[in-house]
Amino acid sequence: MSGLGAVLEAARQLHANHADLRDYAPWPEDLAPANLPARPVPATKIIAETPLRGIDMTQPLINAVRAASGVAAWKRTYTEEEVGAHFRNHYGYFELFGPTGHFNSSSLRGYIAYWGEGLNYDWHSHEAEELYLCLAGGAEFHRSDGSLTLEPGQTRAHDSRQSHAMTTHVKPILTFVLWRGPGLADLPRMDR
Ligand code: ZN
Repeated sequence: MSGLGAVLEAARQLHANHADLRDYAPWPEDLAPANLPARPVPATKIIAETPLRGIDMTQPLINAVRAASGVAAWKRTYTEEEVGAHFRNHYGYFELFGPTGHFNSSSLRGYIAYWGEGLNYDWHSHEAEELYLCLAGGAEFHRSDGSLTLEPGQTRAHDSRQSHAMTTHVKPILTFVLWRGPGLADLPRMDR
């Protein structure tokens, strides 16, 4: 297996092995391949060329993402006006499964998302509930009730419409993100 199928299989195994993910939502049973065309962004090359270190449980998904970087449909939600050119050139995500993902699902949304080092992802929110899992690297996650630095294997949850932000310091971060509940097909918006 290669490409996005390998990414999906590695994500499925990680979901089965990680209690926070398993408890958050059942693995979607309605997955159907959407055959999305590859769509590179500037971060695609960075991800393919950067050795990203996780823990034993997250490394297979990291490796599958790096190998499939060139065939994924990468997106960037924010405009240059919102986040600046440097941010846009060092971040990107793709929807592995979900309403508009590589594998269609209407029950759960799963993203792979990357931010390079030294980025400030400003306060934003969305209706869907969210769980971040740090696969590799690390970042500081902010909520109004406090900040927490995530390392590989650690998770951080955001409630519906709860404003959150993130800062990367000397390391980049590669994440696996789950969305559940109402607003599943929406996009995050900056809180300004
Ligand atoms: Zn979010």
